[in-house]
Amino acid sequence: MSKPRFETLAIKSAENHFHEANPVSAPIYLSTTYHRNEDGSFNEGFAYSRHSNPNRSILESSIAQLENGSRAFAFATGMAAIHAVFECLKTGDHVIIPDDVYFNVKTLTEHVFKRWGLEVSTVDMSDLSAVENAIQSNTALIWIETPSNPQLKITDIQAVCDLTKKNNALSVVDNTWPTPVLQNPLDLGADMVVHSTTKYFGGHSDVLGGCVVLGGNSDLEEKLHMIQTHSGGVPSPFDCWLICRGIQTLSLRVKAQTSNALELAKHLETCEGIEQVLYPGIPSHPQYTLASSQMKNGAGAMLSVLVKGGVEEAMKVSNKLKYFSCATSLGGVESLVEHRKSIEGPQSPTPKNLLRLSVGLENVEDLKEDWEQALKTIS
Ligand SMILES: *Cc1c(COP(=O)(O)O)cnc(C)c1O
Repeated sequence: MSKPRFETLAIKSAENHFHEANPVSAPIYLSTTYHRNEDGSFNEGFAYSRHSNPNRSILESSIAQLENGSRAFAFATGMAAIHAVFECLKTGDHVIIPDDVYFNVKTLTEHVFKRWGLEVSTVDMSDLSAVENAIQSNTALIWIETPSNPQLKITDIQAVCDLTKKNNALSVVDNTWPTPVLQNPLDLGADMVVHSTTKYFGGHSDVLGGCVVLGGNSDLEEKLHMIQTHSGGVPSPFDCWLICRGIQTLSLRVKAQTSNALELAKHLETCEGIEQVLYPGIPSHPQYTLASSQMKNGAGAMLSVLVKGGVEEAMKVSNKLKYFSCATSLGGVESLVEHRKSIEGPQSPTPKNLLRLSVGLENVEDLKEDWEQALKTIS
């Protein structure tokens, strides 16, 4: 054979040749495909990146361990993960979702899965007898989100999961807000946990991601594996890498942000211009005791306030805040504030004077002063 010509050299010379470099931080494996050995096998089993990728494997194994799960499946967004859970069901199945479930879950069930023949009931999940009454013979899945968004209602995970088991249905907990630092639903009997890793796992508002974690159900594992690799809604290697990077500081961030949220919630309760603070970490919350027993390390870094007045007053206050940026989403290092009703639309049951806060890592004294000055505009 002659010496490779320029075009061939351009391909071969730029290929990976550091097979054993042994870096401390994982390299980003952008390659979509992997060399096949002479005997037909693949090193470490990687063949094609929709099926599996080293960065995704690291991410999935990490989240499975942090949630005490048997296996995790990563998706490109939280909603893609949630979609995959619903895809495990079949036409004619009945699903129970919370009345203030993450708004896009409600939209997804109404506009996509009802068309596929799923029956959906909306229930106040903080009321156990309401959940029990909503169960039908074809109930296949009960959706739990606690603390709820944006009203911070608490669902008794263990009690609802017991009910679910008794009725041969599956339970899933959206654990995006508490993260495994504050709550481990699989330990309380849930079959599945879903996360939007866009939020606290990523932690820096610069990556989208989602995942489903299983508690050991092998039938579900098979279904989800099929859905993940054949529907193909998988995250990019770089996104997996960013989320893994976030995971390494997850505990520190969530604990510090939770501590800021608790202190801010207590302060806001004393502020004129605030009608009510919705935060399960303070004794005025109707389910403070339940929250304290099923969560650890605090009640999280999300809280909502009802501002005295209506939409106009709520908007005025949120626009006046300097350290809380007006933006959607949550879980990043920076504090955010959002008027939820105007994002969710006129059908939303969210009170019109509600502002939702994602408390960040700033100094809490600055956050308190920021609210004091902003509330002056309405008092
Ligand atoms: C953001 C969020 C989702 C959806 O996640 P995406 O990554 O935006 O698709 C689902 N559940 C909760 C509780 C969320 O906050």
